[in-house]
Amino acid sequence: MRLGIDIDDVVAECAVPYLRRFAAEYDVELPHEPGWQVLNDRTGVPEEEIDRFRTRIYESDFFGSLEPYADCPVVLEQLVQAGHELYFITARAEKRRVVTETWLREKGILDHAKAVHLKPAGDFDPARPRGRYDPDSSARYKVRLAEELALEAFCEDDRVISLALAEAGIRVFLFDHPWNRDIAHERIERVRGWSDVAGKLGV
Ligand SMILES: [Mg+2]
Repeated sequence: MRLGIDIDDVVAECAVPYLRRFAAEYDVELPHEPGWQVLNDRTGVPEEEIDRFRTRIYESDFFGSLEPYADCPVVLEQLVQAGHELYFITARAEKRRVVTETWLREKGILDHAKAVHLKPAGDFDPARPRGRYDPDSSARYKVRLAEELALEAFCEDDRVISLALAEAGIRVFLFDHPWNRDIAHERIERVRGWSDVAGKLGV
């Protein structure tokens, strides 16, 4: 199977360390189960400041500091050994390629993938403020790549992107998180982590 794999909150835990830094900086109390939905709720922090924080954290050591989910590297290795073709496809900007590939190499998983795709500058919506969450243009970019690469399935956590992929005929393994619990689709299969993916693909 040709499988697309998102990175943030699929390969590596991202939202929780991000929100911990956010909460510390703006003195915001996090819920019991923190997730991206926190930023849509009433944090008391102005939207423009949330944008500035995102730009600032992405330009810091943040991406290099993430940790892969414990069972991810071994399952990726098993998938490759079973003949599956893996493609890392992230909506991180293309300018994050060095930090992204360096991190994937450090974690021992870069070579499991046929390629690493990051979102080209031209695919960002120029009408969106810099640093603003922009799932619609990311969904278009990932659907386009899924079609170009003839992917059969995609590991994803974002709700808008997952629905767009499913609508485009792609099987989605949706990594369960508090921000995506409201979506369902006949081509979306919710998974609790990499061991679930391994089970579904018979490795
Ligand atoms: Mg993600």
